[in-house]
Amino acid sequence: MNTTEALQAIGTTGKGRCWYCDLKLPRPQVAIDGGWDVQRVEGERVATIILVCPTCLRQRAELGEEEFLRNLSLRVCNATC
Ligand SMILES: [Zn+2]
Repeated sequence: MNTTEALQAIGTTGKGRCWYCDLKLPRPQVAIDGGWDVQRVEGERVATIILVCPTCLRQRAELGEEEFLRNLSLRVCNATC
């Protein structure tokens, strides 16, 4: 899948959000320049396309999936509580 094309397609709907932190997807060109990623997650029956913002991409790479998800729930709580 072409990330740029996918970001453009999703970006024009105005409905894209980061799968992890719920950050709103900016305009397509901003998202592409900013390093947003589009990833395919294989589900049990269908594959899902998810968006990942640059911040989450970097943190997931640094911390590893498990630690990242643990930090993420703390961060979301701090932001909303
Ligand atoms: Zn994010």
